[in-house]
Amino acid sequence: MDLFAPTDEHRMLAATMRDFVRDEVEPQAAAFNREEKFNHALFRRAGELGLLGLTVDAEDGGTGLDAIASVIVCESLSTADPAFALAYMAHTFLFVNNFYHNASAAQRAAILPKCITGEWIGGMCMTEPAAGTDVLGMQTTARRDGDHYVLNGRKTFITNGALDDSTLGDVFLVYAGTGERSISTFVVEKGAPGFAVGQRLKEKLGMRASMTAELVFDDCRVPADRLLGEEGQSTVHMMRNLEIERLTLAAMALGIAERCLRVMVDYANDRKTFGVPIREHGQIQRHIGESYAEYKATRCYVYETARRLDLSSSGNRVDADGTKLLASRVGKDIADRAIQVLGGYGYMGEYVVERLWRDAKLLEIGGGTLEAHQKNITKDLTRHPELIG
Ligand SMILES: Cc1cc2nc3c(=O)[nH]c(=O)nc-3n(C[C@H](O)[C@H](O)[C@H](O)COP(=O)(O)OP(=O)(O)OC[C@H]3O[C@@H](n4cnc5c(N)ncnc54)[C@H](O)[C@@H]3O)c2cc1C
Repeated sequence: MDLFAPTDEHRMLAATMRDFVRDEVEPQAAAFNREEKFNHALFRRAGELGLLGLTVDAEDGGTGLDAIASVIVCESLSTADPAFALAYMAHTFLFVNNFYHNASAAQRAAILPKCITGEWIGGMCMTEPAAGTDVLGMQTTARRDGDHYVLNGRKTFITNGALDDSTLGDVFLVYAGTGERSISTFVVEKGAPGFAVGQRLKEKLGMRASMTAELVFDDCRVPADRLLGEEGQSTVHMMRNLEIERLTLAAMALGIAERCLRVMVDYANDRKTFGVPIREHGQIQRHIGESYAEYKATRCYVYETARRLDLSSSGNRVDADGTKLLASRVGKDIADRAIQVLGGYGYMGEYVVERLWRDAKLLEIGGGTLEAHQKNITKDLTRHPELIG
């Protein structure tokens, strides 16, 4: 069995992604990064290729694929444009996959088709200005008022929150308190009264072609039928979706690592110092050798976890945390080594590795910080030492 493409469908998907990334993703990446713009046309193109409904069953209009397919797509996109991959991931997994597994048939019928084609772009609102890792400390509230809920609060760092400086994204899963120790999930659409962009967050270290925004809910009225599941069910929704979120972020780190490794190997062949290609220097060999071994080992862990991950339930938290903890560090370290191998050229935009290095840092923060993963893994292993294997 090929660990990285176990079925014909996965092989075909990987081939489709190779062409899409080479012909359409790579050529636009540098410009959209420079201009800090989201490529809406490319996003719609991903919809045409069936990538936006990747994990939605075929009978519900999706592509009906699994966690391995999710890893293939995010890894592949990130070899060229991790920022586009982040916007894609927020839409396809934080919104679509999460919504799909928790919504009623009526909610699915109303929302999914536009999200699968790319007519609508979605996101997920968990983080608040004063509550990130401590997610249960969130302060946004939702109060029932007749046949509506009224939401008040602020969410920040929301990927796809805005599409430019002022235009809201189209649809969001929003977590809000509905009583003591009760958090509920709401589907909030652009146009809901009292829902607005607080500010678009610009000049990020990396991931500049994905839009990040603070969103404001000011007596925002949402029809009661936009509650997802029952009141107080958010922890179930969060747990179920966190695993695919962390795994796909780990896959993004793999894409960064692969590209950086290729760049440093090519450069080591071409560049000469002291009369020989720099591949002859032991210290360069150390950068390449360690990067290759770390990349290959991490890729096995990510794909093996994907093979075991069931999108409709939770139960792989320790490895979702483990893969992201490992891969994000490996991605960033390999990007760093690539810059070092290229010397001054690595510091310049032309060779791409400086952008990938900036993008890689986000993976140690978004979707859970390194410290949060360390805490979760320790909690899981001390309660269930049998998880060690
Ligand atoms: C570009 C970008 C995109 C994002 N997209 C989204 C999105 O689409 N939706 C969304 O909801 N959020 C999003 N986030 C938010 C992201 O998930 C949070 O930034 C992250 O969870 C950390 O929360 P925080 O920034 O509030 O840091 P804090 O929780 O304040 O943490 C600060 C520091 O303290 C450490 N720390 C906190 N608690 C502990 C503890 N118990 N033990 C040890 N150390 C601890 C942290 O690890 C960190 O080093 C995004 C963030 C960025 C930067």
